[in-house]
Amino acid sequence: MPLYRDQGIVLRTHKLGEADRIITVLTRSLGKVRTVGKGVRRTKSRFGARLEPGMLVDLQCYEGRNLDTVTQAETLESWGDVCARDYDAWTAANAVLETCDRLTEEREPALQQYLLVTGALRSLAGKEHDPNLVLDAYLLRALAIAGWAPSFHDCAKCGAEGPHRAFHVVSGGAVCSVCRPPGSSAPAPETLRLLAALLAGDWMIADGSKLRHRREGSGLTTAFLQWHLERGVRSLRMVER
Ligand SMILES: [Zn+2]
Repeated sequence: MPLYRDQGIVLRTHKLGEADRIITVLTRSLGKVRTVGKGVRRTKSRFGARLEPGMLVDLQCYEGRNLDTVTQAETLESWGDVCARDYDAWTAANAVLETCDRLTEEREPALQQYLLVTGALRSLAGKEHDPNLVLDAYLLRALAIAGWAPSFHDCAKCGAEGPHRAFHVVSGGAVCSVCRPPGSSAPAPETLRLLAALLAGDWMIADGSKLRHRREGSGLTTAFLQWHLERGVRSLRMVER
């Protein structure tokens, strides 16, 4: 059976039988793969601890018909372990990994998503910024890579130059006074500036933001994510019918 070797970040694991585990890994060049770690739940397993969520590994597998099997795994970065010691970093890391799993397809190379998710985990483990800011920056950029870039300045509907006061998740972000649909919200201008900075990777502005704007920004980011992922799942159900 063909062997392959790649670097990857473990997105999730679940139990399989008595001692095995299915390990979902986003690899650098192959995209997302589902592999079986044989015997990894035994305490004497050679690489059980390396194949936990958030760990960056150098992986060797042989391809199977449905699932691949891990034959070697070396730890490159223990981000998962490091984040697990800090509650805020750990909850943020889990949300990052779960979103990455939702936004990637098996065996479809996704280098940009790979670089983004590894960058987020590195930042969380290194305590570079407020974990919630790292999470929101990750979510906004992951959505943008998936083709759902929100707008925080110009009108998301007609493109009129901003800043605009109104904000509407379903329309794609900031909306001008002409396009403004009923039910639009009016977040603080500082919140929209923060979200634009997170999307652009401008950490000077993001790190200097106030807690209330971070909270409001997290609410808008979560609403964005849920709108798009929910719709994604619904359209999948339509296809299956
Ligand atoms: Zn408009």
